[in-house]
Amino acid sequence: MKKHNFSAGPCILPQEVLLKASEAVIDLDNSGLSLIEISHRSKAFVDIMEKARALALELLGLEGKGYKALFLQGGASTQFLMVALNLLEKRAGYLNSGTWADKALKEAKIYDDIYELGSSKDANYNYVPKGYEIPSDYDYFHCTSNNTIFGTQMKAFPKCDIPLVCDMSSDIFSRTLDFSKFDLIYAGAQKNMGPAGTTLVVIKEDILGKVSRKIPSMMDYKTHISKGSMFNTPPVFAVYTSMLNLEWLKNLGGIAAIEKENEKKARLMYSEIDLNPLFKGFAAKEDRSDMNATFTLENENLKETFETMLKEGGINGLNGHRSVGGYRASMYNALPLDSVKALVEIMSELESKA
Ligand code: PMP
Repeated sequence: MKKHNFSAGPCILPQEVLLKASEAVIDLDNSGLSLIEISHRSKAFVDIMEKARALALELLGLEGKGYKALFLQGGASTQFLMVALNLLEKRAGYLNSGTWADKALKEAKIYDDIYELGSSKDANYNYVPKGYEIPSDYDYFHCTSNNTIFGTQMKAFPKCDIPLVCDMSSDIFSRTLDFSKFDLIYAGAQKNMGPAGTTLVVIKEDILGKVSRKIPSMMDYKTHISKGSMFNTPPVFAVYTSMLNLEWLKNLGGIAAIEKENEKKARLMYSEIDLNPLFKGFAAKEDRSDMNATFTLENENLKETFETMLKEGGINGLNGHRSVGGYRASMYNALPLDSVKALVEIMSELESKA
């Protein structure tokens, strides 16, 4: 029986995507060959890569606006470094809204002056810092749209007349935004896009070529753009499965359609957290993430009972990150509303037992 999968990432993918991906591993489109045994230079795979890149731009509404989409390797963590190498000449500003934001900042600090323009570290990142100013002579501003571990999400983005760089690893393709406000977006695939192994980078080409340092080929966005994201052997399975997932999202009606579902799931989840006296939300209400709901069980004596009920109810992946504790319900695009209903039912049943 398929479990209700609340895992924070890698996470749930649509069943039909998993099925098609598994078929392609055996036989890609009746070619008599597996997806993972053909040349990445074959027409079949080049077409897959092109389709994946085009779908990413189309879904974000960025076609024909000077952006390029790349499917790179090394996870979002490598982007912490690549962003700095490609864009940092003198100084940049970072918003420290969580563990991943902090890591991005630390990585960039290796190279030059990095300024933390706002931080919520003092409150264990339970809110998104606000009210900061972004100096117009900085090279870029970096923020994290959704803080996976703490369950906070930026609901508004600052006005910024320098390049705006955003780590959207855990909420890309989940909500409508004016994506053209961003100059560089990156996201590890393993939440809303596909399996681990590739990272989507969407970049406005005209922000490149402005730093004086020499950039190693693999770290240079220009290299990857000029080679159509095929400078070296790409992670073929991760790119193919991401392509299938983006196709699934397009057929569903795109980001606007999935956003409605995501809002329903989040509303249901948070109303249970707020109404059930046994549970307490971790994140500041105004900054709550629609993707990751973090909460604690107030009565430790009920922990064992609750966890047995979760297990019996087929709920997977609800443990909170060690730096927050408690529970985290990750409700990415492919998680059905019924899974949230199943979890909420268990939470209210626990209340009636207490
Ligand atoms: N940024 C965010 C917001 C994340 O949630 C994660 C991973 N959970 C990362 C960056 C790091 O991603 P990766 O493991 O792909 O390097």
